[in-house]
Amino acid sequence: MAPVAASQGISLYELDFPGLESLIQSWGERPYRARQLWHWLYAHHATGFNEMLNLPQALRQRLQTEAVISSPSIVETAEAGDGETRKDLLQLQDGETIETVLMYYERRRTACISTQVGCPVGCTFCATGQMGFRRNLTVGEIVVQVLHFARVLSRTQERLTNVVLMGMGEPLLNYDASLAAVRRITAPEGLNIGQRHVTISTVGVIPGIDRLADEQGATPDTSLQVTLAVSLHAATDELREQIVPINRQYPLDSLFAACRRYAERTGRRITFEWALIHNLNDSIDQAEALIERLSDLPAHVNLIRLNPTERCQARPPERSRVKAFADTLDRHGISVTVRLRRGIDIGAGCGQLRQRGERQSGVQSPRT
Ligand code: SF4
Repeated sequence: MAPVAASQGISLYELDFPGLESLIQSWGERPYRARQLWHWLYAHHATGFNEMLNLPQALRQRLQTEAVISSPSIVETAEAGDGETRKDLLQLQDGETIETVLMYYERRRTACISTQVGCPVGCTFCATGQMGFRRNLTVGEIVVQVLHFARVLSRTQERLTNVVLMGMGEPLLNYDASLAAVRRITAPEGLNIGQRHVTISTVGVIPGIDRLADEQGATPDTSLQVTLAVSLHAATDELREQIVPINRQYPLDSLFAACRRYAERTGRRITFEWALIHNLNDSIDQAEALIERLSDLPAHVNLIRLNPTERCQARPPERSRVKAFADTLDRHGISVTVRLRRGIDIGAGCGQLRQRGERQSGVQSPRT
């Protein structure tokens, strides 16, 4: 891979290991120096070349002049009152901002990361969808979000355990960068987060699901054991088109055919995400339609009450309706969890912090 030049030099987090090795060798250095540098970047989460004391001073100086460890700057941090969710608005080199979230569970520390600036999908209830699409993130811009929270946690001797690609953007519409980032995040010589602790979320981009199935069913060297989460939200085309516009391109029969191919190829269970919206998709009819769709699939359903956004009238349902929906699935043997909404007081739904920042600075999103 050719080195990617940032405005102040080569951005090291854009390089995979062979890329870093060829850069270091092209500078006349011994190959093991690349391994040392990689270790500083991913195991020590180094922020400056001066820390890298086992590298010769001449190499550190050259790195200082010609390369950068790009770390996004924090524009704003919001912490939930219960201390269990932290959301950071990060600024990238070109001034664009993205959100990334850290969630504290009893035994897990989970980063929810972004893969695009904005999102082209336009789900009606989502603040990111409401702001439109700006651009794809690079591999390095995805990876540094994970490093960002790895650094935060290391201050209290804690470790990031899980990563979900569920922040701003649709990961499978930025497939190559998202997958390269996942490989970097999970590589033992990278950030070393277990593949089974990584979830890739999609609204149902079928070509991406098929590519992911091929990767996961590939040779032991290249296979991936990550979890696929499909944001479903409705089990009939008519309703889903209202909530998730990409359903017109990838309707439910085709989507579930892709899910079955994925399950057969990988042997892995698929998670289906369902944001329950008052009087829209919280009916028993929808629960029954979902049961029918899942009858021949190894699946788990995550239900969550809608996280309301300012630009959308939709509201979360009463808890009794959530329970009735979940009980209906459960009675038919569908594995189901009702997830707690997190960080409501800090606008933890993706896109809300950036939307707030745009409003405060008078920036208009492309869709307003
Ligand atoms: S829910 Fe996900 S796919 Fe839909 S608009 Fe928001 S970020 Fe994009």
